[in-house]
Amino acid sequence: MPVLVLLVLLLAGYFIFRRSQAGVSGKPCRWHEDRFRPRGRSQCWKCAECHVEAFTYDGQPPKECKRSLRSGGL
Ligand SMILES: [Zn+2]
Repeated sequence: MPVLVLLVLLLAGYFIFRRSQAGVSGKPCRWHEDRFRPRGRSQCWKCAECHVEAFTYDGQPPKECKRSLRSGGL
């Protein structure tokens, strides 16, 4: 039954598309230290997944993503 296979493939593609659109694909944040922007004692980090910036003072990458702040999740 090729039609059923096609339907399943379309459905799977649809869900993958929706997940990528929502931006919550479950990917962990990948923080990269931005060494070219020194800010006193703090360090600038950039998330490669969400393209947001964050600052920390302990030299460790941020534990949680700031994407909710960026998208205005109030
Ligand atoms: Zn992120």
